[in-house]
Amino acid sequence: MIFRSIRWRLQAWHGLLLVSVLTGFGLTAYQVAHDNQMRRIDQELEHRLMGLFRPEPPPGPPELRREGPGQARPFDPEHMMTLLCAAIDRANTADAAQTNAFYYALWEKDGSLAAHSVPVPQDLERPSPSGPLIAYSPETPPGPPLRGGPHEPRPGPILTRNIGDRREMFRFLPHGECLLVGHLLGPDIAAMHRLALWLGSAGAGVLLFGLAGGWWLASRAIRPIEEISATAQKIAAGDLSHRINAADADSELGRLAQVLNSTFARLESAFAHQARFTSDASHELRTPVSVILTQTQTALSRPRSDAEYREALEACRRAAQRMRNLTESLLELARLDAGQEPLRTETVDLSRVAQECVDLIQPLAAERQVQLSCELAPAKCVGDAERIGQVVTNLVSNAIQFNRPAGQVRVATRTENGAVLLSVSDTGQGIPAEDLPHIFERFYRVDQSRSRAQGRTGLGLAISKAIAEAHSGSIEVTSQLGTGSTFVFKLPGQTAVS
Ligand code: ADP
Repeated sequence: MIFRSIRWRLQAWHGLLLVSVLTGFGLTAYQVAHDNQMRRIDQELEHRLMGLFRPEPPPGPPELRREGPGQARPFDPEHMMTLLCAAIDRANTADAAQTNAFYYALWEKDGSLAAHSVPVPQDLERPSPSGPLIAYSPETPPGPPLRGGPHEPRPGPILTRNIGDRREMFRFLPHGECLLVGHLLGPDIAAMHRLALWLGSAGAGVLLFGLAGGWWLASRAIRPIEEISATAQKIAAGDLSHRINAADADSELGRLAQVLNSTFARLESAFAHQARFTSDASHELRTPVSVILTQTQTALSRPRSDAEYREALEACRRAAQRMRNLTESLLELARLDAGQEPLRTETVDLSRVAQECVDLIQPLAAERQVQLSCELAPAKCVGDAERIGQVVTNLVSNAIQFNRPAGQVRVATRTENGAVLLSVSDTGQGIPAEDLPHIFERFYRVDQSRSRAQGRTGLGLAISKAIAEAHSGSIEVTSQLGTGSTFVFKLPGQTAVS
């Protein structure tokens, strides 16, 4: 469960990475230090081994044990052994004053120990088994180096070996003797252990610091996500007014917060719109239902004359008619919203559709004493002629309806930038600027009571807009209070569509 959290996963990856890097770094540092140490020891051993060969006069009687008497003669093995014993004695004395970590041993060619420093590891004092030369290998067993067989004319190569916590370097002399310098690695191993401990502690410290820093960073990075999730939860619980605090707008999460905020704002407005629409629809339907109920109750309360019954029935018919208009309009809107309204796609000349609508509506204009004029240029588009006619009829009837007595309505069609346009201008009362953004909303009427009294549903422009949008077109309005309004219905031209 815990590893489902992004913060924990980030922390786990971060920790894994840190541990790998620190382990790699620590091991490399340890290995480099170890190699350097061994190289230094080998250099020192070689230096001491070679130093023993320097021809220096023997410093008086050596205190070292010397097995067997020998007469020193220049350049003969016996003389060389004497010199080496003296050198070992000197080196031993110098070392004893310093670290005492080096020791020396010299074997005769028959494998017997000729000289050694004090102290010397015990296994070096054992007599060596005689026999043929056993080739050197790093796994050379403890004890004196083994050799045998024919003499070699020159000193052998310098060889090294590790035995327990000792590092030894030895060399066979031309006549079969063997000289060895060794070093006790105890203090170096302890120093390396201290280094390992230090590296481990430093690594653990860096790991802890890195994990704490990683946790802090991950928490900081996750905080906006937690805020987004908390806000989304509040919104899901029904409070659509909440917004995410998008302080760092330039970051990725800030941009996400902005997108979500605008989505929430649209959701809120859509919900508010929906709620208003439902309440408006019920309100609109309640009025005719109340009319029918009142009329029938009144008619049935006592016996009535035929004329009274007829009047009551006529009122009920009008109310029912109004309900039917309303429900049909609502159904049409719902189908247009859902994209279920089947639309024909035929070539339509907007000027011809406009002319037919104007002809149909002319009697209404005459009745309202409004002068209807047309300026119709051919404007071909593709769409459903019946639906386009519905929009034109609604715009022209509104222009007549909301006109002043003896006013004028001018209907014109034209093509512009590949689009076809129909404009309907009137000399009516105009629409107040604050109402302009809302007149395409469902049930919105500038003068609610008067418009409802006239039997208008307040859905005409909403349906017109939905039809225009279903044709990839638009309707725009400009209006001057007291002077008149102009509605422009715009559709893609036939060439633009094909
Ligand atoms: P209605 O059924 O009320 O006409 P519409 O959707 O067609 O519904 O119009 C919405 C409102 O827009 C109208 O009630 C009216 O207030 C305003 N309106 C529409 N056309 C005009 C116009 N030509 N002049 C003034 N007001 C208009």
